[in-house]
This record gives sequence, structure tokens and C-alpha cells, in this order.
Amino acid sequence: MSALKKALFVSVLFVFVSAASAAELKPVKYVFLFIGDGMSIPQRMMAEEYLKKTQNTGLRINAMPQQAITTTYAANSFITDSAASGTAIACGAKTNNGAVGVNEKGERLESIAEVAHKSGKKVGIISTVTLNHATPASFYAHRANRGQSYDIGLDLVASGFEYFGGGGINGHKGSKNKEGVEQEDIFDLAKKAGYTVCRTQEKIKALKRGTDKVVAIGSETDLPYAIDASEDGLKLADFTKQAIELLDNPKGFFMMVEGGKIDWMCHANDAATTLSEIIDFDNAVKKAFDFAEKHPSETLIVVTGDHETGGLTLGFAGTGYASFIELLGSQKASLDVLKKTFADYAKKNPEASFDTMKALITEKSGLIFAADGKGKNGTMILTAAEQEELATKYGDKKYDELSNAVIRFVNHKSGLAWTSNAHTALPVNTTAWGPGADAFFGMIDNTDIAKKLKQTVIQPQRQRRVFRR
Ligand SMILES: [Zn+2]
Repeated sequence: MSALKKALFVSVLFVFVSAASAAELKPVKYVFLFIGDGMSIPQRMMAEEYLKKTQNTGLRINAMPQQAITTTYAANSFITDSAASGTAIACGAKTNNGAVGVNEKGERLESIAEVAHKSGKKVGIISTVTLNHATPASFYAHRANRGQSYDIGLDLVASGFEYFGGGGINGHKGSKNKEGVEQEDIFDLAKKAGYTVCRTQEKIKALKRGTDKVVAIGSETDLPYAIDASEDGLKLADFTKQAIELLDNPKGFFMMVEGGKIDWMCHANDAATTLSEIIDFDNAVKKAFDFAEKHPSETLIVVTGDHETGGLTLGFAGTGYASFIELLGSQKASLDVLKKTFADYAKKNPEASFDTMKALITEKSGLIFAADGKGKNGTMILTAAEQEELATKYGDKKYDELSNAVIRFVNHKSGLAWTSNAHTALPVNTTAWGPGADAFFGMIDNTDIAKKLKQTVIQPQRQRRVFRR
């Protein structure tokens, strides 16, 4: 065959194959985007190691076939906040820290949720924190400042998205405007706009399929930490499952689900509570996989973090090459609850000595007070110096500091440490599964996530092989 004939043959073949693929492939019908706020590789690996040691399993999100290292910087800062990173992930453009759904000049950007909605899909926005917090807001709001809670609430109502679920709406009551006129409550405005507003868990649980537009408030503020939550309280996974049921329709849906409080306990350097938030988040992702198993050629699942928080590192100078991450399981309450528990105890028992407090510390944290004060690697036994520090904080009635020290010792016993109470510039990883997942590989930027997702919603995608663990 001559070179010319060969070239002709190849191009004809190419045209034939392309035409055939285009005819049978469609834009992706169901798209899930999960965001772990403050969740980078150390957070994911902490949970991976914990599950491996305690249950011989791992995170579902870490078993997804496509992986991409993802940079997170903001337009004006190497270290991003959740508004700039949320906007980058949602809209595909860099902006300054604090800005939501607008670029550095304050110009309106279009989010993947808005693109999906325009294309006829139903849209769900779910979070464990308030629904007008920076990350969820990035998908429907367009404001220069993430602190404009009421205005962001107005954008929520105006979005027309079909499902909002999880935490409350911060500042929903509004205030008097410049002319002295009371602003109308966001919940009332939502009802007028055709939303069914549920503000109790009973009402949320009773919602029927076919309910058109829903605002499902599981708490007036944020949902409780998974480590503190009651058995029957609604979790992130429950909202995800409900949204799937309510949004499923012939044109498909786009859903953003945020584990918003992973970040909060990374700020507080509480590894055990962070761990349980990540497992709670992973449980929500599993609901998407339950659905995807029924629609494997039509469902794309993408999981990312918006930035790292706390500078978590999976090693500690005191434990050398050893790790004891399973010890995190001995902590039974979040730092918030520890603070309250210790302060309440001291209030009720003003004359109590530190000795009587020890049992409570052991019950809540697993830390052990041994008389010899030697401590021991791989156990929760405190050293004499650690016991001394706790006794001093108690003696000084500094119960918040006492709680912080308890958490720090739990971290160190587990072989973990933190470097910051703020965010860091560490990249995150983005994992993907389903048609269109092939686009997520190598080193990408957080703005690429929206760009790639917009393509999957609009352009035909090749289905990828389904990998299972
Ligand atoms: Zn944060």
C-alpha cells in the first residue's frame, strides 16, 4: 500500500470510528461532585490507614480508578480559602479569597451547576454546614464577599435548583435595609418561589418522591459531627440518598455534596473527629456508587477537596517510624463536646480535685493515667509531663486549654501532628469514576474540574471500564 493510500485508509477509518462513537455516546446523564472541605491526601490517608488497621478495608473514594493531583491556589494567594477554591471548582476560574461565583473584577461566572440546570438537568446542593456557606454558595451565588449571607440566601432562592439539603441558612432573617425596611425571611421567600421548606428531620424524612423543589434543613446551623451524632439523626449519606430519589428524571441530574466540617476540625487539629467526618463523607459517596451500579454507563462520580487544612502530617517526632492511627478510635467526642463536658463537670463539682477528673478524661479520650508516669509508644498511657500539663490546666480552670491538650496527646500517641490552625497550599487529589472520568489524571488545577465537568455535561463521553476493588 502506498503512503498516500495508507494515509487515506487511516483517515477514513478514523472518520468511521468517530461517527460511530458520536452516534452511540451521549453527554453524561448523572453527575456527582463530592467535595471534602479541608481534605487533602494526608486526611484521606489517615482514614485509609485507620480503616485498614481496624476493619481491613479502605475508603471508597481512594479506590476510584482515576486520580489527579490538583493545585488549589487562589488568584491573590498561594493559600486559598473555601470561597476562592469553591468558585474555581464550580466555575473554572481563579478568583480572590472571599469571592463567591465572581472573578477578581467582580464579574459573574457561570457554575457547572448552572450549566447543568440550563441543559435541563435537575440540580442538588448538599452540605453538612449551612447551605449558604462558601463551598455550596459557589455553585449558585455571585457575590464579592462570602460574608454576605443574606444576599447569598437570595441567590439560593433565585437559582431554582431542585434540592438543597443539610445544614441551615445562616442569616436567613435578614435585617433592616438602608431605608429601614425589614428584609423578608429567606425561608418565606423560598416558599413563595415554590420550594417545599422542611425545617425538622421528621418533615424531611416524610418527603415524598415527586416533590418538585425542596429546601431540607436538617439543623438550623450545621449538622452535628459524626462522632457526636445520634444514631437516628440524618447524616450526609441520608441527604445524598434522598436527593438521588427526588432528582432522578429522564434528563438526569447534577449533584454537589460537601463534607463541610472536615475542615472545621482540621482547623482545630482534632484528628479523631476529622477521621469520623471523612468516613461519614465516604458513606455519602457510597450512596452515589449504589446508584451508579444501576446506571454504570450514565453516571460520573468525581471526588475532590477544596484545600488542605491544618498541615496534617502522618508522622510524629515522638513515635519515629511507627504509626498507631488506630488509637484515634479511642476518642469518643469532638473537641467542641470535650470543652463543654470538662467545663460543665468543673462547674457542677467546684471542689473536685484533678484525680476525680481523670476518669472523665479517660472515658472521653482513651488517655490513660499510669502512676509510674513513663508512658509507652503504641498505647494511650500518658507520660508524667503530659499528666502534669493536664493537671495544671485544670488547676488554672482553663478548660478549653485542657481539652486542646487532651486532643494534642491523642494525636501524638497516634503518630500524627499538625503545623497550622489555618489552610495550607498542599495540593489535593481528585478521584473519578464513570464516563468522562478519563479526563482526570496527572497534575491538574482546581479550575480544570469545572472545565472537565462542563464538557461531560455538554459533550458525548466514552464510557470507561468499571474497576472494582
Ligand atoms: Zn477552612
